[in-house]
Amino acid sequence: MNAKSLTTQILFAMLIGGILGGILNIFLMDISFVSDFIVGDVFHVIGQIFVKTLKMLVVPLVFISLVCGTAALGDIKKLGRLGGKAVLFYLGTTALAITLAITAAVVIAPGQGFDLSSTTVQEFTPKESPSVAQTIINLVPDNPVAAMAEGQMLPLIVFSLLFGIAIVMAGESGKRVEQHFNSYNAVMMQLVVIIMKFAPIGIFCLIAKTFALQGFEAFMPLLSYFLVVAAVLVVHAFVSYPILIKMLSGLNVGVFFKKMRPVQIFAFSTASSNATIPINIENTEKRLGVDNSVASFIIPLGATINMDGTAIMQGVATVFIANVYGIDLSLGQYLAVILTATLASIGTAGVPGVGLIMLAMVLNQVGLPVEGIALIIGVDRLLDMMRTAVNVTGDAAAATIIAKSEGALDQGTYNKQ
Ligand code: ASP
Repeated sequence: MNAKSLTTQILFAMLIGGILGGILNIFLMDISFVSDFIVGDVFHVIGQIFVKTLKMLVVPLVFISLVCGTAALGDIKKLGRLGGKAVLFYLGTTALAITLAITAAVVIAPGQGFDLSSTTVQEFTPKESPSVAQTIINLVPDNPVAAMAEGQMLPLIVFSLLFGIAIVMAGESGKRVEQHFNSYNAVMMQLVVIIMKFAPIGIFCLIAKTFALQGFEAFMPLLSYFLVVAAVLVVHAFVSYPILIKMLSGLNVGVFFKKMRPVQIFAFSTASSNATIPINIENTEKRLGVDNSVASFIIPLGATINMDGTAIMQGVATVFIANVYGIDLSLGQYLAVILTATLASIGTAGVPGVGLIMLAMVLNQVGLPVEGIALIIGVDRLLDMMRTAVNVTGDAAAATIIAKSEGALDQGTYNKQ
């Protein structure tokens, strides 16, 4: 099956899943056969198996692919330059994203005149977020196997990079190991292709289940908050990234977005940047023409430290909560929000719902009530799906722009229909 027809099928699966889920939610969820068996068993089981197969690929794929990429680079200086560019791009775009979000939220002022009794407040207990010092120490695994077993991305990335560098330095033995890794990499990529074939069914079940369970009543009192987050996400994805891609690489922006569509749908339906890593690497290499040495490094790194969509939610949520509680924030506090949210995004994993945990840290920083988070949990699932799609788009945009600047982008592949 070619990539185009698979994309069409995935799109179709998402649409039909959304429509069916919506219909079930409104008309049929009172029937226990529908709510327990169809949604609770069939959709749930198939959807979870699909997400697990994706997650299953993440650790071996990141390790193998990153070792191959680093070994192929063959130059520690180049690696440092790539890393430097990536961190600069990731932090810069996150700061831009949250600035856009705060500006829009201050102008539109969602939450002003909000009636606290109009919404069901759910329980929210914030988890302790790790300190900056601990986050830095945690970059280095004391046991790479444990890091892999626990799926800790940053320590895994650090170990893979060092392993790749050692391959380059180990002469003949290194060459032999590199050849093996290249073969493993080809096999892993094939596994991604196999799992992609099941994507339409998996995505259909995930989306249908979410929409069947998503109570739409929760939206009304929070509509202004929801719409501001959604609007800024759209602006960042379809205005900021295109401008950056055009300015920094001169590439055709339309092609980028067309080829990103299936990856965005994966991110949307799983709400996890991590689970989307295998598909994003495969798409960035095979369809956008980015060399493995860049994609294998920049994509997993981005899935871990780059969360523009999440930062947007946090910016709007901060202003919303301040408005609801009638607290005025000073310019200094806004700047603190920008800084904290940008830095916080580094230490947070790309899994569903984690943005809210980081939000607790941001609110604490400026002395806003953390319980405010309970107000917005009801609409967070859908926003989580949307912001994850933006997060992974940022990762692929970075990989494409950096690859172009390093002469590691095959323009023929990029422009191929
Ligand atoms: N679900 C998001 C991601 O994986 C993180 C978040 O905002 O909760 O990128």
